[in-house]
Amino acid sequence: MDKARLEQFYTLFEQMVSIMTDPEHFVREDLIGVLEQICELFRLAKGVTEFYMSPELEAAKDGEILVDFDNGKADTEIITRRLIGAAGSVVIGRVFVSEDAQDLSGEELEKIDLVVRCLLSFVSRNRLSNAVERLGYYDEDGYPNVRSYNRFLEGVNARGRITKYTAACYNLRHFSMVNRDIGRERGDAVMLEYFRLLEMAAGEDGIVCRLGGDNFLMFFQKELTDQVLEIFAGVPVQYDEKNGKRTLISATAGVFIVPDDFVMEHPGQILERVYGALNTAKTEQYGSIVFSDEKMLALREKMVRVHNAFPDALRNREFYVYYQPKVNVFDGRIVGAEALCRWIKNGKVVPPMEFIPVLEQGTDICALDFYMLDRVCEDIRRWLDQGRQVVRISVNLSRKHLVDVNLLEHIMEIVDRHHVPHQYIEVELTETTTDVAFRDLKRVVNSLQLRGICTSVDDFGVGYSSLNLIREIPWNVLKIDRCFLPGDLDSENSITSLMFRHVVQMAHEMGMECVTEGVETIKQVETLRKAQCSIAQGYFFDKPLPVEDFEQRMEQGAYI
Ligand code: C2E
Ligand code: MG
Ligand code: MG
Repeated sequence: MDKARLEQFYTLFEQMVSIMTDPEHFVREDLIGVLEQICELFRLAKGVTEFYMSPELEAAKDGEILVDFDNGKADTEIITRRLIGAAGSVVIGRVFVSEDAQDLSGEELEKIDLVVRCLLSFVSRNRLSNAVERLGYYDEDGYPNVRSYNRFLEGVNARGRITKYTAACYNLRHFSMVNRDIGRERGDAVMLEYFRLLEMAAGEDGIVCRLGGDNFLMFFQKELTDQVLEIFAGVPVQYDEKNGKRTLISATAGVFIVPDDFVMEHPGQILERVYGALNTAKTEQYGSIVFSDEKMLALREKMVRVHNAFPDALRNREFYVYYQPKVNVFDGRIVGAEALCRWIKNGKVVPPMEFIPVLEQGTDICALDFYMLDRVCEDIRRWLDQGRQVVRISVNLSRKHLVDVNLLEHIMEIVDRHHVPHQYIEVELTETTTDVAFRDLKRVVNSLQLRGICTSVDDFGVGYSSLNLIREIPWNVLKIDRCFLPGDLDSENSITSLMFRHVVQMAHEMGMECVTEGVETIKQVETLRKAQCSIAQGYFFDKPLPVEDFEQRMEQGAYI
């Protein structure tokens, strides 16, 4: 090589090295430009680099092949270099010349080889760092993970723009049902599609990442909030492109619109706010999308207070059983009663809605339910010993119990410890929405019945899987929720009246007893009579009563 060409080579080589050693400002086109000039200098026809994560993937040709230069005249491969990286990755470099090219000198080949080796070590390092990025910032299904989220948040914060953003945390609603209906694989596709919709709504300067399962986190500019909320509220998502099949997906979400005076010291502050709001949203008491504002924060604090006060309250027996009679609407006799919990705290009665949803967030509710059953059995035993007339008492069991493998033993231990004949106990369970819990529900109901304990579906009609639930599980009693009971203003031909009559009839045909909850007026009693639903529970007869009042009521006999 003459001096001029040698100088030209070293200038290009230096440019190439400086591009490769400045990863922050790396622009692929710059590198390609230099490589092209090097190829021209040596009259090369084509240069290719290949990258594979492992030799197995290399054999399967599953990797990245990059053509760095190609003048379309490549005939002979003159250099092939294969390099195995530290992590087992494989990089290959190939250089081609055209048939009519002059032979390259030994010195020239040496220089070309030098370029190829530099290039390979660069490609190997560069691709590996991409892979490390993928491993560190994405989960196994390719969704960005919480580390991506924190990095994004810190970036926004560093630019002093944190107060321009909204944070959200969402959980797909009834996703296990979706999985059950359309299959897991399509379920995954639906989750991804929903994620993409939200990613689009969050825009270029936003992020959506997955926490695990069907839980996701988002951060996006405030003006996009409405758009995102609309998607949370529910959108049809396609899962079968060929047949155009779609399913409606919505999310339970906690949302935190970062206030203008917010100062972020660490991303955890924002996470706390959205998790808190999401937890509240999950109770469904305030809708399925909850904003973390000062009011919500106060509510959370109240929840924490309930949670903290519970163990002592239970030990101090601050929880009382109130009994609400179930009455035969034809003869007015009391045929049973439901045991409902009241917390008497500093002389004030706290209704269940104030504390049960909080206890249901953990497993405290289970301790409370066992306690209630224990107190009920105590009362029944006393009534029997006193020679009083005794009716069947139903207790509520939270769905949280369903996963407890010792549930049955625990119930039987309590009932039998008080020597209460099993026919006096009924267990009320509400519908479940997940397929897993459904199996547990079936197992629990069957085994209770084997031991002579009645089971009832509580709040029938407000859940989602109602018909399937009663077809597959042999309940003794159907408790129709008061939202199904026609009000005084409903005509006999109204949809509610129609559905009510048919639900009662269906329950009877399936061999179930039928109880209607929330009966408040004489007209509603009439409605029950006409529909042949013989048992009513509601304020028309009595509110839930303290035990002494209930005993008195039992002694008085029939209402009519
Ligand atoms: P639930 O099991 O459906 O109980 C019926 C609820 O309806 C009771 O509310 C009762 O007071 C109310 N109710 C009865 N008749 C009428 C009426 O005519 N009109 C109206 N508007 N309401 C009526 P309560 O006692 O506030 O209990 C609410 C819920 O809390 C219960 O609903 C049950 O799900 C839960 N709960 C109560 N005690 C326990 C318990 O010991 N364990 C568990 N796991 N849950 C409980
Ligand atoms: Mg109940
Ligand atoms: Mg109910």
